[in-house]
Amino acid sequence: MNAIGVDVGGTKIAAAVVTPRGRILDEVRYPTPQTPETLIKNIARAVKEVGDGHEAGGVCLAVPGLILASENKVVFSPNLRAIEGLPLKDELEPRIGLPLTVENDGNAAAWGEFRFGVGSEADHLVFVTLGTGIGGGVITHGVLMRGAQGSGGELGHVTVQATGPRCACGNDGCLEALASGSAIARRAREVAIENPGSALGRLATNRQILGEDVTRLAREGDGVALSVLEETGRWLGIGLASFVNIFNPEVVAVGGGAMEAGELILEAARREVSQRSRPPSRDLAEVQIATLGPKSGVLGAAALARDASSGEYLLGT
Ligand SMILES: [Zn+2]
Repeated sequence: MNAIGVDVGGTKIAAAVVTPRGRILDEVRYPTPQTPETLIKNIARAVKEVGDGHEAGGVCLAVPGLILASENKVVFSPNLRAIEGLPLKDELEPRIGLPLTVENDGNAAAWGEFRFGVGSEADHLVFVTLGTGIGGGVITHGVLMRGAQGSGGELGHVTVQATGPRCACGNDGCLEALASGSAIARRAREVAIENPGSALGRLATNRQILGEDVTRLAREGDGVALSVLEETGRWLGIGLASFVNIFNPEVVAVGGGAMEAGELILEAARREVSQRSRPPSRDLAEVQIATLGPKSGVLGAAALARDASSGEYLLGT
């Protein structure tokens, strides 16, 4: 049976009808409104539009922030305040006429990579996504780890530097504050000021530097831009080394927009993992680039919706 996955992001809502083998049959996108009523309306509209003409057994919403699975609610979402506290299942099920579940977006993307992507041959996967923030998810023995309340797997908010920069979550020195796309841009602006003669420094005098500028300049050979990505990779690797020690995964997959930089970040990350994690976990874990790109969220959500309805996915609450 096909299922519908919905990825509710800070700026857009993507909904897709997906086959059991992970093929997208239809897809729609809507902007993400910033008020609760219009948010519910647009999610319902996206689901109805994409599902039109298809049979689907269920819907799963991949949502940003910390969720309380027993209530199908998001309790904390710094990048999408409008979704906080909304009774998503109660509001949406009557409008769409299908069973609906709610999952954290990092967990859903991890499930997507596990089912259809880089982790499809593994039983033990750690997935980290480097975007504006850092999301993630953990699969152990083929089961998505959700924790007691459904808010587990928040890999971006482990502290890697106690006195480090402030994170969007309010804590200091989270992995997210040191290795996300936003952290790359922040670090790039700092080193551009220190190195005004570099390509990065010259660009900074004309306009605000973005994460993709850093990757482009690093590929063109700018040593300063390269050093920004290497430092990001070192912080990422410090976080990944802990995940390797804790979860003993076969695959550590890294995705998200910042993975445009690929090996320019991962090489330094692998070095840290090999120095800081312990055998035998260290020798097993392969740090790889995720393969589904931005589709991991809708694909994972659809697979979760199907697994929930078939009873394969008997987890959490
Ligand atoms: Zn944090």
